Amino acid sequence: MRDPRHDVLFEPVQIGPVTARNRFFQVPHCTGMGYRDPTAEAALRRVKAEGGWAVVCTEQVEIHPTSDITPFIELRIWDDGDLPALERIAEGIHDGGALAGIELAHNGMNSPNLTTREPPIGPVNLPVATWSHDPVQARAMTKSDIASLRRWHRDAVLRSLAVGYDLVYVYAGHALSGIHFFLSSRYNSRTDEYGGSVRNRARLLREILADAREAAAGKAAVACRITVDELLGDDGITRAEIEEIIGELAELPDLWDFVLGSWEDDSVTSRFGPEAGQERCVRGLKKLTTRPVVGVGRFTSPDTMARQVREGILDLIGAARPSIADPFLPRKIEEGQVEDIRECIGCNICVSGDFTMSPIRCTQNPAMGEEFRRGWHPERIRPRESAARILIVGAGPAGLEAARALGQRGYDVVLTEASRELGGRVAAESRLPGLHAWRRVIEYREQQLRRLPNVETYLHSPMTALDVLEHGFDHVAVATGASWRRDGAGRWHTRAIPADGSPQVLTPDDLMAGQRPAGTRVLVFDDDHYYLGGVLAELLAGEGYQVRLVTPAAHVSAWTANTLELVKIRQRVMRAGVAVRPNRTVVRLTKAGAITGCVFTGEQETAEADAVVLVTARLPTDELYAELQTRAPEWADSGITSVTAIGDAWAPATIAAAVWSGRRYAEELDAPAPDGPVPFRRELTALVPAPSFIPYSGTRT
Ligand code: ADP
Ligand code: SF4
Repeated sequence: MRDPRHDVLFEPVQIGPVTARNRFFQVPHCTGMGYRDPTAEAALRRVKAEGGWAVVCTEQVEIHPTSDITPFIELRIWDDGDLPALERIAEGIHDGGALAGIELAHNGMNSPNLTTREPPIGPVNLPVATWSHDPVQARAMTKSDIASLRRWHRDAVLRSLAVGYDLVYVYAGHALSGIHFFLSSRYNSRTDEYGGSVRNRARLLREILADAREAAAGKAAVACRITVDELLGDDGITRAEIEEIIGELAELPDLWDFVLGSWEDDSVTSRFGPEAGQERCVRGLKKLTTRPVVGVGRFTSPDTMARQVREGILDLIGAARPSIADPFLPRKIEEGQVEDIRECIGCNICVSGDFTMSPIRCTQNPAMGEEFRRGWHPERIRPRESAARILIVGAGPAGLEAARALGQRGYDVVLTEASRELGGRVAAESRLPGLHAWRRVIEYREQQLRRLPNVETYLHSPMTALDVLEHGFDHVAVATGASWRRDGAGRWHTRAIPADGSPQVLTPDDLMAGQRPAGTRVLVFDDDHYYLGGVLAELLAGEGYQVRLVTPAAHVSAWTANTLELVKIRQRVMRAGVAVRPNRTVVRLTKAGAITGCVFTGEQETAEADAVVLVTARLPTDELYAELQTRAPEWADSGITSVTAIGDAWAPATIAAAVWSGRRYAEELDAPAPDGPVPFRRELTALVPAPSFIPYSGTRT
């Protein structure tokens, strides 16, 4: 039964002409699917609605060809041709029982218009504000452009209504929306009635909100998503300015949706910000309006959610990431199954889908992005198809997820783990600075395994090939993980790093096991480029070592540009006193340290160090798998029909990939993916009739 302290979360909320059935609101978030994979997106959103969210929104929907944020893949509502896809998504949301919200957006100076080639538009003549620094400028909008923008937005509202949306957004946040650039004094230096005072800078927002209300005509609610503080002091939108704007426009939208700063500020990872981290910036704004307000904060604790409502901070609990990690979060709270919540770990792997133009994935929820193409569901899985017994060796993320999912299917599973704790790499990495929340990958699965009497777990039980053959299981999954290389091979050196003697060499595994450099001067060579090199440099600097981080990339932890952490990591590492040496590689190790070289010119310098930490690449721990394969002739006598390596033991990758691999093993054990080169369902572009081909006649007319 539901905890009465959480009852408040299940009160309905009136949003203009529509009623949310409870206070759970899936705010707009990207999926990396958009116009390319609309049916997959419809399936994803339907699952959210089924999981109990009262409102489920789309990501940004570009309203006009002058708002084209290629290469990012969002949705579009440029003309009626886009409506079937949008309608399918709204239907998916309605099928699941939620209100459908659509985030209409004109991205203004954030749209480089690389596909449409339209000159971008903004409040002033300035280069576009994009992550990729596209060599394109926005043209200062004339009055006639402003009139056009208002018309495009109105048309988008009408089209949204025509395909069933219950809530239409006016997007003015994140320095991603064109209206944001008008609001911010950093970008808006116009001298007409759309620039200057706060009231003037908010004029465009006021007009578009009024237009949207009129077009919605009481049939759909109008939401305003706005940045409450740009966190740039007087150079950007300040708290005082936002109070003035919300105070003046208070009742114009039916709902206020508060975001903080840029996307990097809003979607902070757990390494850099706690749950409910935005509370200090949002508190007090609700009293400026009688309209309901929604805000986010990577909420996974129902107590925190209920407190925010009771204290009058928010009316609706907004979530993007918690709804990705657990689409059934509201239902679990409603049914009093709080301990079953699959809590978001705050890693932003989901965000990386947008930056890499690939369908969204999630570390905690391997079904995310697979709802349509593989038919996976975050809560359901089909029952077992035989009485087969399965042995899983290794309880890292891959082994844990395979055991959990096979156990849920009803199979008898034995999970063995060599060490004294569950979790593999996650257990070790979550002890590093800032990564504690990653333990949730283990905790969720440990909790689920406790409920499954058909899964037996044995710690401190290293398995040899002989052990496996003696025990007689039908299927064996080898999830024995991977270990960091000690020879420095990786991206830069595809073979071992040359060495004329060497200082002490440590791997990330050594450091995570508690070993420390013998002297004080440490060189960290990061050729991995995800988080670990930066985290280990931070760890050692925090313990008083003199740390130099050498990386062939231009940035520390360069791949974290995809998880919105690049700047924060650089700040933290530099503030910790780490000497950052980007664009350099370790050319060779010497007795006194290393020779490093510039990756462009080859110019070399000596870097004295007592120890070198090599964060370059990993090797699968696959001896057990290899031996079992060589002993395949003995399987039949032991009753074994298959031996499969999963997770890092098959190919080292992210934690998200290991969890996914465990789920895939459980899904495909008795139903292999369809034979053929593409193991999942695809939605292909429908072809239009090709224009007739006129051969070149030799005359240029
Ligand atoms: P993945 O990310 O693929 O799940 P991890 O490296 O996180 O891989 O976890 C692998 C786990 O397997 C570790 O906890 C390790 O202790 C365990 N392990 C490795 N070899 C054996 C073995 N022979 N028997 C049992 N457990 C093992
Ligand atoms: Fe949370 Fe990470 Fe999943 Fe994103 S990928 S929802 S941050 S657990």
